[in-house]
Amino acid sequence: MGNTMKKRVGILGGGTAGSTIAIRLAALGLETFIFEKNASLINGPPMCHLHAGGNLYREIPDQDCINLLQQSIDILRLYPFSIDARPTVFAVPIRDNNSPLDLIPRLNKLTNAYRELIDKDHNNKVLGEPSEYYKLYDKKQLLELSKKQPAAHPSTLDEWLIPAAKYMDLNKLQFPVIAVKEYGWNIFRLSASAHFALEQYKNAHVFINTNVKQVLNNNLQQNKWLIEYQQDTKQNTETIEVDYLINACGFRTGEIDDMVGVEVNRMVEFKSSYITSWQSNEGLLPEIVIYGERGTPQGMAQLTPYPNGYFQIHGMTESITLFNDGLVDSNKHTSQPKLPKKYINYIENGWESESLISRSQQAINHVSEFMPRFNNAKTVNNALYGGQQIPGNDETLRVTNVQIYPEINYARAENVKASSTLNAADEIVYSLQTNLFIAIDASDEENRFHHNWKYLKQVKQSTIDKKAQQLALDRGFPVNMGLVNCNLNELTLSKS
Ligand SMILES: Cc1cc2nc3c(=O)[nH]c(=O)nc-3n(C[C@H](O)[C@H](O)[C@H](O)COP(=O)(O)OP(=O)(O)OC[C@H]3O[C@@H](n4cnc5c(N)ncnc54)[C@H](O)[C@@H]3O)c2cc1C
Repeated sequence: MGNTMKKRVGILGGGTAGSTIAIRLAALGLETFIFEKNASLINGPPMCHLHAGGNLYREIPDQDCINLLQQSIDILRLYPFSIDARPTVFAVPIRDNNSPLDLIPRLNKLTNAYRELIDKDHNNKVLGEPSEYYKLYDKKQLLELSKKQPAAHPSTLDEWLIPAAKYMDLNKLQFPVIAVKEYGWNIFRLSASAHFALEQYKNAHVFINTNVKQVLNNNLQQNKWLIEYQQDTKQNTETIEVDYLINACGFRTGEIDDMVGVEVNRMVEFKSSYITSWQSNEGLLPEIVIYGERGTPQGMAQLTPYPNGYFQIHGMTESITLFNDGLVDSNKHTSQPKLPKKYINYIENGWESESLISRSQQAINHVSEFMPRFNNAKTVNNALYGGQQIPGNDETLRVTNVQIYPEINYARAENVKASSTLNAADEIVYSLQTNLFIAIDASDEENRFHHNWKYLKQVKQSTIDKKAQQLALDRGFPVNMGLVNCNLNELTLSKS
């Protein structure tokens, strides 16, 4: 691999983007240094939904949805243990101005795109048969399903729809209701997966509890970078020199841009979802999404199930997930949009109980409008929240943005959706190659095209179960949230 072994890359931020880029670069043999101020990797803003088709977003272009599908399949193949392999049910309420029929042309395009991905590589068949990527249900079918006995281990879309049909108020919905193979995504399991993937590389140096304080470009040394960092346990700062700098600092990406001296427009949005507890006696639920206009009191409701009766809720209204002062812009003086202090305080020190419980209760009420029996769910005084970066000034953007500055050996990865991170890593690798910074030999093709990730041969589901439950506990969440209802590998194995 020639010079590659000697090259050092510094990655700032150990969220999904930084961790995934680190795995990709370490697999290529680069000396990879990743710095994360939190106590574990991937402990920032959450993810609960793998956007394998972008169907949550009716407003985005079809091509973005197709990109999200492809990116989600790639990321699922890198992190299969992080997936909860249950579908999502999308329903349009009667009061909504749009019809569910509007979504069908796009679903057909997505089905064709999925078929083409499988034709290219059979291992892409991770969402089941293309013909079962989505299914439409009219009222009569749902009423029939609602009378059936729930399956202990649902595997078909019909089986998943049984409890949904029993709980949803069908009189408030337009038809068809749509079930799509958009799976769940578990942040604790993703964090555990990234931890084990990086652990296997001697050339991956992971610094957690480590704050990057400054970066300096050393022009005299062919644009090498000096990273000044401070570990929580130490009084003094330390410095290392790297050949290439990657900024993956999430909503704080602008702070590093300011240090580097590049001007960038972006927005940052503070958003939150709430953890609740509710015992369903009608079997395992799929994720349920009731569409609505963002920012209005009728904004989308999203109910995401976890094992043991825990549910995460998003409600796209200003009294639940959104905040009237939660979306901020960069300006001509700084590339870092400034969130109000109270949200920074929530992110760094936790959220005070009173408003957290009040928003959680409003989230329960929001879901109960369409699932009346959910109204006895309990708040558990916890939430998954954070600042989300949106490059540019289009707040509906849902895909990745990688910016490469080849003349200064600097790159920045900003992902509105966590599923885009492998794609971002690929763009960075491609740029490193084309700048002749690294040479990739034939044996690296495997990693390049994501056919086979080495760590998956060594790590078992039970290892992830253990680590993810510990991470959930350490972060103050119910231990069961480290598990999934339907493990993808088990499902795939049982069908093969
Ligand atoms: C409420 C909510 C729900 C979401 N749901 C989904 C979903 O269902 N599906 C989905 O795909 N996406 C979802 N997202 C978006 C997703 O969370 C982000 O796309 C993703 O986390 C971005 O990853 P990242 O690595 O770019 O940034 P981050 O995850 O923010 O990582 C950046 C890291 O950099 C570290 N850092 C920053 N500055 C420094 C420094 N100076 N020194 C050291 N470390 C530093 C931070 O501590 C952080 O860990 C959601 C976001 C929110 C807010």
